[in-house]
Amino acid sequence: MAKEEVLECSFCGRKKPETDLLIAGLDAHICDKCIEQAHGIVIEEMAENSSSSLTSELIVKKPIEIKEFIDQYMIGQDQAKRVMSVAVYNHYKRLLQPVTKDEDDIEIEKSNIIIVGETGTGKTLIARTIAKMLNVPFCIVDATVLTEAGYVGEDVETILTRLLQAADYDVAKAERGIVFIDEIDKIARKGDNPSITRDVSGEGVQQALLKLLEGSVVNVPPKGGRKHPDQKFIEVNTKNILFMAGGAFSGIDKVIGKRLNRQAVGYSASIKVDKVEKENLLQYIIPSDLKTFGLIPEIIGRLPVLTHMNPLDEDTLRAILTEPKNSIIKQYKKLFKMDGIDFSINENALMYIVDKAIEYKLGARGLRSLCEAILTDAMFELPSTDEKQLKVTKKYAENSLNKSTLKKLKAVS
Ligand code: ADP
Repeated sequence: MAKEEVLECSFCGRKKPETDLLIAGLDAHICDKCIEQAHGIVIEEMAENSSSSLTSELIVKKPIEIKEFIDQYMIGQDQAKRVMSVAVYNHYKRLLQPVTKDEDDIEIEKSNIIIVGETGTGKTLIARTIAKMLNVPFCIVDATVLTEAGYVGEDVETILTRLLQAADYDVAKAERGIVFIDEIDKIARKGDNPSITRDVSGEGVQQALLKLLEGSVVNVPPKGGRKHPDQKFIEVNTKNILFMAGGAFSGIDKVIGKRLNRQAVGYSASIKVDKVEKENLLQYIIPSDLKTFGLIPEIIGRLPVLTHMNPLDEDTLRAILTEPKNSIIKQYKKLFKMDGIDFSINENALMYIVDKAIEYKLGARGLRSLCEAILTDAMFELPSTDEKQLKVTKKYAENSLNKSTLKKLKAVS
C-alpha cells in the first residue's frame, strides 16, 4: 500500500490521490487532467495542419487544369469556364496570403462570381463541379426564400447554416466553402427607382446579403430557422467563403439591347450594330445592366466577376446526353447493367429526344425527364424478365413518349 501512495503523474507530478484517474504506461503514468490537455493540443494541431494542407492542396490546380476538370462534366460554355477558373484560382491564391501584410501592402480582394443565363444552362452545374474538384463544402440556397430580418421567411444567416451542415459542422472547413445563391434576380428591386417604402423581398434582402458577401463574422443559428434570443449561435467568418450567384435575369437582353443601340446611335457609332449577334445578347452584359435590372450597386460591387451562360443549341444538348463523365445515358447504361441488361440507344433516338427538349422548351433539364418518360416502362418490367438487351430506336422513343407522360411534360413547358 505504501508503494501505491507514491505513484504520481509523470507529466504534471500530481500524486494519485489528487487525480481522478491515473493511467499506467510501461514505465510512466499520466493523470486525467494531462490526458485532457494533451487531447486538446492534438485536436488543435491537427486542425491547423489540415487547414493549411487544405489551402496548399487547393493551389496545386492552375486555371487551365481547373477548366479541364470542368470540361469532363460540362459541355460548351467556354467563356464562363475560363472566367470562373481564373476567379476560383485567384480566390484560393488569396487564401494563401500571409496573415501579416506584405511590405507592398497589397491586399487581394474576393472574387465572388455572378452568372447570368437562362434556366437549365448549367449555372448550378459549374458551381457544383468546382466545389467537387476542390473538395470543399458546397451548398445551394434559393434567394427567393430569404427575407429581411423580422419578416416571414428565412434570415440570410441560414445560408451559412446550410454550409455548416455541408461541412458536418466543421467551422474551419465551412469557412473555406462555396455558396451558390440561386435566383439572385428574384430579389432585384422592382423598378429602377429606389423606393421609399420598404421592399421586403427585394432591396432589404440585398442589403442583408451584403454583410455576408463582404466578409464578416456572422452569428449562425446551427439548426437554421428564425433567430431567437436563447438559441446558441456558431460564429462563422465569411471572409474566405466563395460566393457564386446565378440567375436567369429574364428580360435583361432587352436592357442590353437598348444600351447597345444607344451606344451605336451616339457618338461612338464605331460599334457597329450589325456586328452584334442579336441572338445572344447576354454575351455583351456589363455590370451596369444588372443595376438597371434592379440589383443595388453595392451587391454588384461585391460580386465583381460577371459571366454568362449561352443558350443551349441542338448540338450542345445532343452532346450533353452522352459526353459528360456522368452523362444521363451513361447513368442509364449503368442502371440497366446492374440488372444484367445491355442498354443501347441509337443516334436517331437521341436526336428525337433533343428535338423534343427544344420543342417543349425544357432545355438540358428536360433531357432527363424525357429519358425518364421513355425508359420508365422498361425499367419497371425488364428486371423481372429474362431479357438481356434493350435497344432504343426513334420509334421506341416515340411510342413510349406518346403515352400519358407526354401530356405531363407538355404541361410543364
Ligand atoms: P441552371 O442552374 O442554369 O438552372 P443546372 O446547372 O441546374 O441549370 O442544369 C440543369 C441540368 O442540365 C443539370 O443537371 C446538368 O446536368 C444539365 N446541363 C446543363 N448545362 C449543361 C452543360 N453545358 N453540360 C452538361 N450538362 C449540362
